[in-house]
This record gives sequence, structure tokens and C-alpha cells, in this order.
Amino acid sequence: MAFADTLVAHTDAEVVLVDRRHRPGGHWLDAYPFVRLHQPSAYYGVESRPLGHDRIDEYGPNAGFYERASAAEICDYYSRVLDENLLATGRVRFFGMSDHRGGEDDGQLVVSLLDGSETVVKPRRKIVDATYVQSEIPSRHVPGFTVEPDVTLVPPNGLVDLGDPADRFTVIGAGKTAIDTCVWLLEAGVDPDRIRWIRGRDPWQFDRTFTQPLDLVRSYMRLQARWVEAAAAAADGHDFARRLEDAGMFVRIDSSVEPLAFRGATVSAREIDALRTIEHVVRARRVRSIGRTSVTTDAGDVPGSPHEVYVDCTAAGVPPAAARPVFAPGRITIQYVAVGFLPWCAATIGFVESTGLDDEEKNRLCPPVVFTGNVADLARLAYAAMQGQVARARHEAVGPWNAASRLNPARAAPDHIDDADVAESLAFMIEHTRDALKNLEHTTTVAARAR
Ligand SMILES: Cc1cc2nc3c(=O)[nH]c(=O)nc-3n(C[C@H](O)[C@H](O)[C@H](O)COP(=O)(O)OP(=O)(O)OC[C@H]3O[C@@H](n4cnc5c(N)ncnc54)[C@H](O)[C@@H]3O)c2cc1C
Repeated sequence: MAFADTLVAHTDAEVVLVDRRHRPGGHWLDAYPFVRLHQPSAYYGVESRPLGHDRIDEYGPNAGFYERASAAEICDYYSRVLDENLLATGRVRFFGMSDHRGGEDDGQLVVSLLDGSETVVKPRRKIVDATYVQSEIPSRHVPGFTVEPDVTLVPPNGLVDLGDPADRFTVIGAGKTAIDTCVWLLEAGVDPDRIRWIRGRDPWQFDRTFTQPLDLVRSYMRLQARWVEAAAAAADGHDFARRLEDAGMFVRIDSSVEPLAFRGATVSAREIDALRTIEHVVRARRVRSIGRTSVTTDAGDVPGSPHEVYVDCTAAGVPPAAARPVFAPGRITIQYVAVGFLPWCAATIGFVESTGLDDEEKNRLCPPVVFTGNVADLARLAYAAMQGQVARARHEAVGPWNAASRLNPARAAPDHIDDADVAESLAFMIEHTRDALKNLEHTTTVAARAR
């Protein structure tokens, strides 16, 4: 949606959107009911339409931060984007309940999931694959472990429909879904002693304080400056993360455990404090099977009970995908081209496509940023992101577009240049980005040789 919106705004292209779901919204249509955006709504969605009201929440768990939309708001938003922004141009068509089954560049097979009828779509310009980095969906995810018949295993969505109260909740997974689930249980009043958390690898997360836009953009600019500083000195991905922790921007749940995972998720200090009240933590293990009285993991068994509820949070919100050139003859593969914030990435790709540059130049502007989920790969990820960011900022058309885009978290920085903090962060970045790129290139080369 973000790609199509930007492309349609900047070209005369016609777009056919194909989705096997009945309406736009993607994974948000199946999200667990207590999910919210990880980032502020202020820079989520598509370029041409605001999401939410750019309000700073005054109370509740997000107090002091820009509002974050719920799944229902996001789905409503995307429906309106489709109807009022895209279809209204007369250049976009939407085929819902339609499965794309592949094909050659001159004919793509689309099958209706309602009556099985087949349509061959002949792309005049390009096929755009917006499924390459799609999220796994907790409610549709098939866990990678077996479960005995009497065991209650639910996705997070199932927690709002439990028939009977549980003796205990065992949350399986260490990503954002597990964090959301634990925080939700705690906020709903469940005693921390009644929660057990099996987490394979602890993650590094961004502190939400530093992902704030608009009037709080100072915080985001500080993050950018410290990111450049860490990049200029880090010996490897782990060192990079620890430097950001020292700067207060990366957080971990347990300070005695070295995180091995990084997927770009964001949490608040309040959420971290709540998570730390859960003391029953089973670490560094992957679940193999769940029986009535025990859970088998790759490092031995732990006890279970027939009256506990297991919550499967092992679906990958950002599954690892090998980098592909974003632009190839007849094809565009939407991927991350910045750290996190997928709509901003997709709109960027849409705008770069609109420039009419050749594929080589467009790929130089959009090197894929690959989330492997491993902290060890953080320097490589940062290198690709910084190369793209610098190339785009210097480009005569892409730079100004990016600076003004509502999807860019730093968009308000020029309006706050009188703020000494913002000015200092910008000056720091200008002075040290070259050193950062040099060090990241070196670090990435060393890591590649060691592999
Ligand atoms: C809980 C959660 C919170 C998140 N929060 C944020 C956030 O705050 N900020 C952020 O930037 N990102 C966030 N993300 C990442 C999220 O993936 C993106 O924001 C974005 O919603 C992804 O959209 P998408 O279109 O790439 O993928 P999806 O939403 O997964 O959509 C892919 C679509 O492709 C369709 N499809 C797949 N294959 C076919 C086929 N063969 N034929 C037809 N249709 C097909 C699917 O039906 C689906 O509708 C979050 C992810 C999760 C899981």
C-alpha cells in the first residue's frame, strides 16, 4: 500500500493490487487483539494520508509518547487508503480474495479463492513482490514443536477467549509478540508468579523514548547520532549493541544475559520494568514438544501441568530473508532499505522507481537491509542501511522527497534546528558518518572472512 501510494502520486502508472485476503491490512487483519504499532502512528502507513492525530498520550502505558494505533485502527486506515486515496485515482484496481500463483513476466496467474476462476494478468511494466519480507502471523502459525492432545496451546489471540481460568501461563518465544503477551497479562492483573516465560534467545530492543518524531524529534536525532558514533567504533555486532546500551538506547530485559537476537523491536522502560517482574524464566532453550506434565526442550525437560495455558509466540514477525536486488528487470522486490519502519522503506522504493533511473542506480540508492535476527549481523545491517541513507540523502530528487515524507521519523528535524540538542546531533552525524561507513565496511569484511 505504501509503495503503490507513492508510485501513483509521482507517476502516471496504473497498479493492480492482488491479495488473497478480502481487504487490505495484511497481517494486521489477523493480529492479536491487544497488539499496537511498535512505532508512533505519526510515521506509519502511507505517505498521502495521516494515521491518527499526532497526539502525545497523556496517560496509560504509552504516556509521554506519540500515539500508537491498534490493529482495528490500522485496518480501517488501509481500507480508507484503498477506497479514498488509491481507487479514487482511477489508476488502481484491487483484486481481493485472489491468490497469486506465479507465472512468467508476460503473464501472472491469479486465482479467485471464491470460485476458482483464473485470470492472467499481463504486467505492462513490472511485477512488484510485496510478500518477500511478509510477517508470519501468530494466529495462523504452525509451531515447530509437537503438542499432546490434552494440552492447551493458544496463539496470543486465544487468550481473550479462554473458557476457564489458568493455573499458570507459559509464554513461549522471545520476540515482540511474547513481550506484548507478557505485558498484557501483567496489565490485566495476572500475578507475575503465574507466568513462566520460555525464551530461547534474549533480544536487544530499542527504547521507545528514542523513536519519537515531530515535537519529540530531538530524541530520534539523538539515537541517530549515537548510532553513527557506535558504528564508527564498534568491533562487531555485539560491541555495536553494547555501545548503544551504554548510550541508553538499546535495552535488554535481563542485564546479566547477553542478547543474541535483534529484530528491531521497540519497548518502553515501563514495559521492561514490568517484564522484569517475571522471575520464572526458562532460558536458552527451544521447545521440542509439550506433554501433559512436562515440556521437552533441546536442553532437557521442564515440568508442566495439565491446567496451564501455553501461549505460542514463536511466529517470526520479521522472518529472515536473503537479500535480493530490489530492482531487477521487470520486477521489484520490496524489502527493508532502512532500519525497521517497513512502510517508509516501501514508499522509498516507490519514489526511487518513479525517478526513472536505471536499475543499477536505483539499487545503489536502495541496498537491502537484511534482518537475520542475529546480533552478530548488526554491523552488516547498519552498513547497508547507512550506505542507502547517505546515497538517498545526496540524490537531487530522492533527498528532498525523503526529507519531507511523513513516513520519515526525522522529518521534523529541520523545524527544530534551533534546539541545541537537534543541531548537535545533526552536526555529529555530518562529521562522523564517513568514519562510521569506513569502520562498518571494515567490520563487515572481517566478519565475512571469518564466516
Ligand atoms: C505485531 C507486529 C507489529 C509490527 N509493528 C510494526 C511497526 O510498528 N512499524 C513497522 O514499520 N512495522 C511493524 N511491523 C512489521 C510489519 O510487517 C509491517 O509494518 C507491515 O505491516 C508489513 O506489511 P506487508 O504488506 O509487507 O506484509 P503483510 O501484512 O504480511 O501482508 C502481505 C500480504 O500479502 C498477501 N499474500 C501473500 N502471498 C500472496 C499470494 N501468493 N497471493 C496473494 N496474496 C498474497 C497476504 O495475504 C498479505 O495480506 C509489525 C509486525 C508485527 C507482526
